[in-house]
Amino acid sequence: MSHLGEFWQSQTSRLMLTYLAIIMAMSISFSAIIYVASVEQLERQLPRDFYVDELGRFGPTPRVQAYIQEMIAAGKQELLIRLYVLNIIMLVFGAAFSFMLARWTLEPIERNIKAQTQFVSDASHELRTPLTAIQATNEVALRRKKLTLDEARETIQSNLDDVKRLQRMTSMLLELLNNRRNLVLVPTPVQDIVSQSMTDVAPSAMNRNITIDDQTDNIDVMACRETSAQALTVLLDNAIKYSPDDSTVTLKTKRQRNRIAIEVIDQGPGIAKDEQQRIFSRFYRGDESRTSNGSGGYGLGLEIAQNIAEAHDGTIELKSAPGKGSTFSLVLPAAKEHS
Ligand code: ADP
Repeated sequence: MSHLGEFWQSQTSRLMLTYLAIIMAMSISFSAIIYVASVEQLERQLPRDFYVDELGRFGPTPRVQAYIQEMIAAGKQELLIRLYVLNIIMLVFGAAFSFMLARWTLEPIERNIKAQTQFVSDASHELRTPLTAIQATNEVALRRKKLTLDEARETIQSNLDDVKRLQRMTSMLLELLNNRRNLVLVPTPVQDIVSQSMTDVAPSAMNRNITIDDQTDNIDVMACRETSAQALTVLLDNAIKYSPDDSTVTLKTKRQRNRIAIEVIDQGPGIAKDEQQRIFSRFYRGDESRTSNGSGGYGLGLEIAQNIAEAHDGTIELKSAPGKGSTFSLVLPAAKEHS
């Protein structure tokens, strides 16, 4: 990180010097123009054509000529001093201004690169866990003198589980990098989105004997069906993951002015107020979800869902309290005729 700090410092200095050089080049050029123009003006104003007719000829006397020369020299010198002071002031203020301008230019780039570095570092850290597990399982199997067929199967199964975990994780990481700015949003029935998500999560709901009670209304939202269903699947999947066996997850729609909220209501443990903001951060996982066996998450789902909602000009809302379950809502713009 200190290396990165030095890098940004040197980039800031370089950019600052470039800006300062531009400012000073402009200032010195203007000073030169002012100097030339002022001297011309001065020479024109002084009584050059002061004639004496001693011998019937015209022309300045040597005294007048010397006086004129003196006046011009003094004027030039004063002007030079003023321009010199002005340029020193420009240099001081220009340096401060250039520094501010350089920081203003580089800061967003720096922030972006730091976030990317953090992302790569967090992602590598998360990817290492299943890789280490694969390595350990294989090393243990290799060390055994006689590996029975069952043990070999067990090793392969464990490896396969880890590979699936890696696959899920890499596809979620790619999902996060997905730029969805060009989504085509068309009027889409909420129930289309809901039924697609329900198909995705049906196996895990069945495994835990969790009922999904679909009470959504037949309303149209402005959405890309596939992508919005992906966001709803994250919310439904979480509701199932964090709910007790044999419970019910309810889906409802609610109108909010010109938006429609698709609510996913669970009977799970609920989320404390101070955690509600944090759960949307990348790689953040609640303590219980980290330790609970087999919930198999990576702390990426809610960020993906939020990105998708935002690409629809929508949002994800959360109402929850410990012990009272959670309601996550995917809020999307209502289609015109319903707004
Ligand atoms: P993951 O579920 O993979 O851990 P998410 O980004 O989807 O990652 O969720 C982040 C955290 O938010 C979870 O680890 C969990 O602590 C909390 N969370 C999400 N949904 C729920 C829910 N329905 N009930 C309780 N906690 C939840």
